[in-house]
Formats: sequence, C-alpha cells, structure tokens
Amino acid sequence: MRFSKLFAPTAKDAPKDAVLPSHIFLIRGGFIAQSGSGLYNFLPLGKIVLDKIRNVVKEEMDNAGAQEISMGVVNPAELWRQSGRYEAYGKELLRFKDRKDNEFVLGPTHEEVVTDIVRNRVNSYKQLPLHLYQIATKFRDEARPRFGLLRGREFIMKDGYSFHASMEDLKREFDLMEKTYTQIFTRLGLDFRVVAADSGAIGGSGSKEFMVLAKNGEDDILVCGKCEYAANIEAAKREKKTSGAAPPKADFAKFHTPSLTSIESICGFFKIDAFYTVKAVIKKAIYKENRSEIVIFFVRGCDDLQEVKAQNAAKALELAEANEEEIKNAGLIAGFCGPVGLANVKFFIDNELKEEKNLICGANEQDYHHVGVCMFNFKDERYADLIEVKEGDLCPCCGGGLSQTKGIEVGHIFQLGQKYSSAMNAAFLDQNGKTQPFFMGCYGIGVSRLAAVMIEANHDEKGCIWNKQCAPYLLDIIISNIKNEAQAKFAEELYNKLKSEKKEVILDDRNERFGFKMNDFELIGFPHALIVGRELDDGKVELVSRAAGVKEFVDIDKLDEKLKEVF
Ligand code: ATP
Ligand code: MG
Repeated sequence: MRFSKLFAPTAKDAPKDAVLPSHIFLIRGGFIAQSGSGLYNFLPLGKIVLDKIRNVVKEEMDNAGAQEISMGVVNPAELWRQSGRYEAYGKELLRFKDRKDNEFVLGPTHEEVVTDIVRNRVNSYKQLPLHLYQIATKFRDEARPRFGLLRGREFIMKDGYSFHASMEDLKREFDLMEKTYTQIFTRLGLDFRVVAADSGAIGGSGSKEFMVLAKNGEDDILVCGKCEYAANIEAAKREKKTSGAAPPKADFAKFHTPSLTSIESICGFFKIDAFYTVKAVIKKAIYKENRSEIVIFFVRGCDDLQEVKAQNAAKALELAEANEEEIKNAGLIAGFCGPVGLANVKFFIDNELKEEKNLICGANEQDYHHVGVCMFNFKDERYADLIEVKEGDLCPCCGGGLSQTKGIEVGHIFQLGQKYSSAMNAAFLDQNGKTQPFFMGCYGIGVSRLAAVMIEANHDEKGCIWNKQCAPYLLDIIISNIKNEAQAKFAEELYNKLKSEKKEVILDDRNERFGFKMNDFELIGFPHALIVGRELDDGKVELVSRAAGVKEFVDIDKLDEKLKEVF
C-alpha cells in the first residue's frame, strides 16, 4: 500500500468524549469513524486489524472442530417469545415491526436462531456433537455506549453454539473452548485471566470469562495470590469471614436507639465491631411487564451488597433505588429494618449470616434495634450469596489473600444445559430411543472490542503500538525527502521487492515533511519504520522499532538480513 493512496484520515485531536487511549488513537489514527452513539465504521486500517483478529479466532475455532455459518441480524420476535427472552432481555434488545406489523428484534446474541436452525434438522444422538459459530454484527441498545469499540451498540462478536447428547459431552466441549480461547488470546499477545463469572441474561449454569488485565477495564476481578482462583466481582466467593473482636453477648431484647440509622452510629453506641451488626439494603426489583417490588437484602454491617448477586437472588430483571415514598408504602422504616419479625415484604439474607448469633439489627420500629439476635428459623430460600468480595478477603479455594484488579472482558463461555432447547422444543432421540432436549453451550468473543483492547494493552503517549499479529502493516518505509531522487528510487525498489514477496509493507511516498510522516508512524503504530534519508549517500538507512523506541542505522547490503527480524 502507498500512503499517498491510503484512506487514513489521521487527526491531531480526538473527540471530547474520547477519554481512553484506545478510543482516542483509533479515531485519531483513522482506523474508525463514528456515525452515531455507539455506532462505528471501520476504515481501511481498522478493517485490516479487525480481519487479522478475526482470522486468529477463525483458525482456532476451525481447529477445534467448530463450523462457521452466518446468521441474520434481523430475527423474528416469535423465536424470542419461544425462549421467553422477548420480555426478559430488557432494554438492550431492540424490538421493531416491519410494514406488515410483524415483530422483529436486532440480534444481540443468537441462541434462539441457532436453536431454530438445529431443531428438526438434527434428530439423533448420532449427529451430535455439533458446534456452529459465526463472526458477525450484533446490536445491543446499551444504556451507556462509551469508550469507542469497547462498548458499542453495534459490535462484532464471534458467537459459537454447541449441541450435545449429554451434560458430560457439553463439559468436554466447554473445556475444549477454554483451551481454544486461551490459545486465541495467547496468540494475540494479551495478558489475561480466566475467571469464574455470573451468567447474566444468557442464563444457564457455569460460565467463565476471559479478562484482559488493564487499568481502564470496566470489570472488577479478584485474583488469589497463592492459587489459580480468579473471579469476576459479580461471582466472586471468599472463605467465610471471621472477626477477632469480642461479640456483644446479650439476651434477645429490644433497645431504644433514637436516630441511630447508620451502621457507624450503632457501632459507636454499642461499642461493637460492625461484623456483629446486620445491614439492610432496600432496593426496588423490576420484573417482567414493568412489575416492581420492594426487596430487602441483609448483609453484615462490615460487608457491602453485590448488586448482580442481589439481582440474581431476587430473580429480577434489574434493581433500582427505592425512594422514601416507596419504602414507606412497603411498611418499612428506613434505618431500622431487621429480618426478625419482618412480614409482608420480600427479603434475603446473606449466606454468611446463617446460624450466626450475638447480632444487632433493626427492630422494624422507629428508633429501636434488637440485640442478641440469632439467625435461626429462617427458611433456606431466604439465604443467598449477596456480599461483595473485597481485596484482602481470603480465597475460597486455598485461604490465600485475594487482590482486586481491573479487567476488560474479551470472551465468555457458558454451559447453557437444556434452557433453550427445552423452551424451544429442540430435541433428539438418545441411545435408548428416548426424546431429550439438546444439551447446549455457547461461547462468545468480542472481536471488535479486541481491536481496542490491543491498544489498551499496548500504547504510549504518541499512539498505538501494534504487535505483529494485529498490525495493519509490519513495515512503514518512509521517504524522508520525496524530492530526493536517490531516496525515492531506493525506497520504491525496496517497496516493490517486498511487495512481490507478499510482505505487509506500506510506503510513505507523500509529499509531506519528514516530521509529519514520523508522527503518523507513531500514531498509527506500525511495528517498524525504515527511514530512507540523507544517510543513504553513505549506504545506510535507519530502522526504527515502535515498541522499543530505538533507531539503528543499517548498511544497505545488510538490509535483507535485518528485515527478516521485522517480518
Ligand atoms: P459486558 O459485561 O461487557 O456487557 P456481556 O457479558 O454482556 O459483556 P456477552 O453477552 O458474554 O457479553 O458477549 C460476549 C462478548 O462480546 C463479551 O465477552 C465482550 O467481549 C463482547 N461484548 C459484549 N457487549 C459488547 C459491547 N457493547 N461492545 C463491544 N463488545 C461487546
Ligand atoms: Mg453486556
């Protein structure tokens, strides 16, 4: 490619809403162009990067025995009704009608469509397992599209779906996908962790996420310093917390605690550790058809509620803040809620409080708390894992210390089981001639997000630093002064030779100042530049490594040898 012909509208400035390096450099480097909120177009350089990532993903998926297909973006709402997700998916699902009033959705994920493809076409266990995948556009009407390609509304995902005759075979495929994803992200040169995850709106049991460690990540992950345990904060577990502080031993009683509505004030008043108090977090749970209900979550005073865990416990589509009015209408007294004697309101208690004693909690009466509370006699269904695991908590596997870091989710694999196949009547005849719903798995990779992740993982203040695997071109031959005939001739000949050898090379033949061309080299971030300048008269050219930031002069008769390192 010749720079003079390349459509790469590089820019000095980034849009105001671009705050992350990947967003800034993808725009400034002319890789992408925004057309609306969360909507991006890929320009030539961006398309090359995207295709390179896509190829790595495709090669590894094909290697693992999956077959590539291509599904439509527009999906009949009927399929989504069959799975029950037409309502349950929430506002990220864009629903619309055609001219005949038929209902459709823009596919945010394709479990329904692929299940429909396979049902009645695969009928026997003999045709299983089967793994179909695509690399295609998805649409999710994200509440807060931001950070460029990291969280778009339209984005490109690799989504794969597998069908099995047994849970064991699904688990085998799940493990194979963990290996395949590990191979993909390793080939891309990323520093990542496989973490235990929440399954979100996709559902099913057992899921793992692939997190690239990056300070600008939106996800919080907990990692054990001693063993392999790592988990998304939404799913993280810990060894049950204990306290060295003396418990406030007392018989069960009601205590006058005027205006003491916070955990701190209660701890100060009774001179106790927050570990022995019970905190009530009141939320408004939103359900199907906009039905809502006040729900209370009880955790230790020293712990915080983890919203995703709470939402799962309440089986809600969403949790919202409850206002004073709503709390009062539910018959609750904010600041004085406790689980003992609480009636007519849905509530859940954190697992770690089960059968604990010597606790202090609200008495459900203005200005009163209970002391000497024992958490006995609550039904098992009341208990759930509700707490947010924090840095310093202990690993549930080995007791080692957990530390918290930031990650960007690049992949997510799920064991769906029979959730979709049961709901959609997708079944096969097993070995005994019995009809059974398929056992399914699904596996996603954020292909367009990865283009941004590569930059988050590797950049400096000047621009992108692409590695070999994803770079739009591997070598940028810069003619220092286009008017110098010797320079132009040498560079042209070298460019033509490398091109004939099918090397990924670009020639900066623009009639621009040398500094301008260097800036573009650094902004776009090709791994190497070869500067053909004044030193050519002495038989030398200069090789620049973008990552190392080093320049070295190379004798032109040794250039072939040197360029082997580049390609
Ligand atoms: P997130 O928690 O980041 O919203 P998700 O759990 O909704 O992700 P999945 O449904 O598991 O994502 O989708 C599979 C992959 O698609 C994710 O691992 C991520 O890399 C990518 N992805 C999801 N949403 C977006 C988005 N809005 N923009 C770009 N990529 C996305
Ligand atoms: Mg999401």
